[in-house]
Amino acid sequence: MGHTVLLVEDNEDNRIIYSTVLRHVGYHVLEAEDGEQALEVARASRPNLILMDISIPKIDGWEATRAIRRDPQLRDIPIIALTAHALPDDRERAAEIGFSAYLAKPVEPRAVVAEVQRWIGGGAGAPA
Ligand code: MN
Repeated sequence: MGHTVLLVEDNEDNRIIYSTVLRHVGYHVLEAEDGEQALEVARASRPNLILMDISIPKIDGWEATRAIRRDPQLRDIPIIALTAHALPDDRERAAEIGFSAYLAKPVEPRAVVAEVQRWIGGGAGAPA
């Protein structure tokens, strides 16, 4: 079985770009458009890694990540924040909340792939 990445992103263009490059290098990609969906999909599928946009509807990325870190079934999943917020405090806040890593938008698709590979390996061009 390949590695499964949950991509949480409300912007359709970004979702298509990131999911396309991740699939291209061999990851199985699940998608969610808001924080509620993110939690549903995470609980149902237990992905190997989550890419979490911070600004998403219903439950924002901060709250969704807090909920995942409280869930014994999900708490060890690496979560990479994707955010357009470039505030200096955000990096610190991201670490406190339990994000594993933090990518400030705009993020080059290849940088997203590199960060995912750093955490879970795979994605070498063949099915992971
Ligand atoms: Mn967003």
